[in-house]
Amino acid sequence: MEEKMSEDFSKFTLGLSKLRRRRWSLLAVILVYVPLIWLAPRLTSSGYQTTIGFIVWFLLVIATSILVATGKCPRCGNLFHIKGLAPLFLRSRCLHCGLNITADKK
Ligand SMILES: [Zn+2]
Repeated sequence: MEEKMSEDFSKFTLGLSKLRRRRWSLLAVILVYVPLIWLAPRLTSSGYQTTIGFIVWFLLVIATSILVATGKCPRCGNLFHIKGLAPLFLRSRCLHCGLNITADKK
């Protein structure tokens, strides 16, 4: 336990910042939904264009979700947010080794 307390987390900075960036991009894409669905019918004259906007948004959600899901832990090398079949994107610790996503900032 003493070794874990004195572990140098700065060597994980690059990997952890990449994971944080991917998580923020997923959150940003999700938050775009409400303004998009509110604005699309007002800016376009047809439901067809609104549907295209929704489909593009949905594809972006899928793509960013895959990016977040495939993010690997810089300490143990396993998938950071997936253990077994269940992805836990809101969890801030590696599901395998427990490395916190902000460990390099402390
Ligand atoms: Zn890990």
